[in-house]
Amino acid sequence: MNFTLHLTADCNFACRYCYETHRPARMDERVALAACDLAFSFGHIKNGFSLFGGEPLLCRDLIEKVFRRCAELNAQRKGELAYKLTTNGSLLDEDFIKLANENNCEIALSHDGLLQDEQRLTRGGAGTAELLEPKIDLLLKHQPNALAMMTLLPRNAGKLFDSVKWLHQRGFARVNLAIDYRPDAEWDDDSMAELDRQYERIALYCAEHYDEIKPLRFLNFESKVAAYMNDRPCIECRLGVKQPSIAPDGTIYPCNQFLNLPEYAMGSVFTGIDAKAQKRIYRASLAPEKSCEGCAIEKRCRHHCACLNFSMTGDMHTVPAVQCVHERSVIKNADLMAGLLYERKSERFMRAYGETAVNSK
Ligand code: SF4
Ligand code: SF4
Ligand code: SF4
Repeated sequence: MNFTLHLTADCNFACRYCYETHRPARMDERVALAACDLAFSFGHIKNGFSLFGGEPLLCRDLIEKVFRRCAELNAQRKGELAYKLTTNGSLLDEDFIKLANENNCEIALSHDGLLQDEQRLTRGGAGTAELLEPKIDLLLKHQPNALAMMTLLPRNAGKLFDSVKWLHQRGFARVNLAIDYRPDAEWDDDSMAELDRQYERIALYCAEHYDEIKPLRFLNFESKVAAYMNDRPCIECRLGVKQPSIAPDGTIYPCNQFLNLPEYAMGSVFTGIDAKAQKRIYRASLAPEKSCEGCAIEKRCRHHCACLNFSMTGDMHTVPAVQCVHERSVIKNADLMAGLLYERKSERFMRAYGETAVNSK
């Protein structure tokens, strides 16, 4: 079973696009350990946790307890156990990264490349680029394939390519971008057109570096290429089933954006998942998005993300207009990259998709 543990909404940063409440409440040990027990109670051979904040490393002691409890539970069945932790990096140190490695915990670093000082600030309003420099070295030393997670404000669209390139040259082989999807984010035709031009430059850059020892894998493109080549949706939502979220007080919700909304509560770590509520929420999420009917790229689009739709429009089936424009741009430029790689028979690309790539021509 997979769960997201919302360890705290609190954080020692104050990024410009943050949507967190920064409430100081933290998950206590009783809740965290009950969450571990609940995950293993389903008897699955694979179990996983996403350790989420706010800043999860504010709860480092608790994370260590979760690692220990799950290791004990997992030892009884010799299953697969994995964690993902996304951090702003400020509290990372070598001991923690080593512990993460011992526990199969993949650490993703939130970093905005050249925009770090402008977008990601301390609570006192200072830039954080310098603070992060030694942390990047440490992380890449122990997790060379670590993921950099970028976020982009509309006004900085023109600086995207240089920032992604900076992250690659700094040693990251995998970068994922989230655009600022807050309801009041001011994306307009101009910033979207600029974003499209930047994606094109990233596509050309990725294609150029694809076969290097340390390539740049821009995950936004990779997921679109994989969806096409494997003929399957680029995300499988399965709201409330795939990876429910656990709030600091132990209440279970279907996913991140539904946290603390009582009408979406579906049980607690102490009483288990409320199967009736879970079924109701899952069924409700299956209704098709009307505006997407008949769209040729429907399978490759993230329009079914209930969280994103809900957070921007208040309805899990209403796709925000900005999402539609954005997805078209990502898919178009992912195809530009894939076309170049296919034309020059990129070894890495052909290894990943060879058979399918040839058949799809
Ligand atoms: S690191 Fe930034 S975006 Fe993440 S929770 Fe803290 S303030 Fe928000
Ligand atoms: S709502 Fe979005 S984030 Fe949550 S499981 Fe579905 S696709 Fe993933
Ligand atoms: S959001 Fe737009 S691009 Fe995506 S499936 Fe719907 S209509 Fe197509």
